[in-house]
Amino acid sequence: MTLLACTCTRRRALRSIGLLATGALAILFPIAFSTGAEARTPLPDILQPATPSPEAFMSRAFEMRRLSVERGDQAYGAVVVRAGRIVGEGVSAVITSNDPTAHAEMQSLRDAQRRLGTSDLSGCELFGTSRACPMCEAAAFRARIARMFHGEAIADAGAPRAP
Ligand SMILES: [Zn+2]
Repeated sequence: MTLLACTCTRRRALRSIGLLATGALAILFPIAFSTGAEARTPLPDILQPATPSPEAFMSRAFEMRRLSVERGDQAYGAVVVRAGRIVGEGVSAVITSNDPTAHAEMQSLRDAQRRLGTSDLSGCELFGTSRACPMCEAAAFRARIARMFHGEAIADAGAPRAP
């Protein structure tokens, strides 16, 4: 009887210690314990232009384009801007990730949504090195992008339209 009670107490104590240890590990290593580990992986900070301007944002999009070519992918780059800050960057990954939807614009939308923690990019502008294709424009529309610009001349394509 005493032995049984003792075993139960010991089990309870061990369970408590186990829970405490699990809790402590979860605090120490939150990413490992989260379910959406990939979504919560900290992203490197985006290098912001010294003087925010449409030219500076487009210049960054062309920097993404250069990076894309360097990686052996298609020559496209894009950035998403909100309130004078770049909140998402996109390098084409169609070839390198065997993903026909990984256009630079799509990548920049996904990056902005991941960083901002929302799919709603209301008030954001999309700067792309080329005019957005119908797939990317549809995605920009669904993400509520306010305005799109493209090319070195920073042509204004207006608000994205539904397909
Ligand atoms: Zn596209």
